[in-house]
Amino acid sequence: MTESLLEPLEDFPGGKINWKCRCVRCARTVFPRFNNIDQGWGGCGYCAGRRVDPKTAELKMIESGLRPLVPYPGNQTPWLCVHVECGKEVTPLYNSVKFGQGGCRFCSVSGLKWDQPTVLYLAVNDLFHKIGIVNNTTLEKRLGKHQKAGLKPIALFQFGVGDDAYSVEQIIVSWWRSECNSGPVPRNVLPDGWTETVYNDDVLPSTTLDYLTNDLALKPTKTD
Ligand SMILES: [Zn+2]
Ligand SMILES: [Zn+2]
Repeated sequence: MTESLLEPLEDFPGGKINWKCRCVRCARTVFPRFNNIDQGWGGCGYCAGRRVDPKTAELKMIESGLRPLVPYPGNQTPWLCVHVECGKEVTPLYNSVKFGQGGCRFCSVSGLKWDQPTVLYLAVNDLFHKIGIVNNTTLEKRLGKHQKAGLKPIALFQFGVGDDAYSVEQIIVSWWRSECNSGPVPRNVLPDGWTETVYNDDVLPSTTLDYLTNDLALKPTKTD
């Protein structure tokens, strides 16, 4: 534990039980399991970026123009906030805001008709893949635009309205950034939609597709 910069605050409770410790680096009280530490997960989750301090999370939301209406719910749970600029209530994931997706779906996803049928697409080129949402009526136009960046759709998922498609998009991007630890391509590589991309070297397109179809149990309407 000492090697992992943790100071136990109680006797060893067994490898599978959360063990009360103090992180020597940040002085927070944390509850890691010895077996996880032993397998090299790293000591303090806050210092490793896996855990989030609620105060820090709130400040990040406020910095991003959002006013939380309820306490921090966890980094992958929709968080009820007001987008100060437009005054609308929104429910972004903390992870999405933290990784720069913009917290307000009304302002950050321009032109989407939220009450209309929406397609979630997964598109791939040699370097990276992208997830995106678009109304059925403008799908062909969007895919045509992506074609110019060499992006080919490998799967489409149909949703009745935009909200549900947007939630899935957020979950995927949040999963890329936090669990897979991978950033997006730079803005100049895909000015339109770079924040919802990930390098194929970091996450295989087939892994993302597998997450959508198995973990999230979505049925594609089309795959290549
Ligand atoms: Zn720490
Ligand atoms: Zn807004």
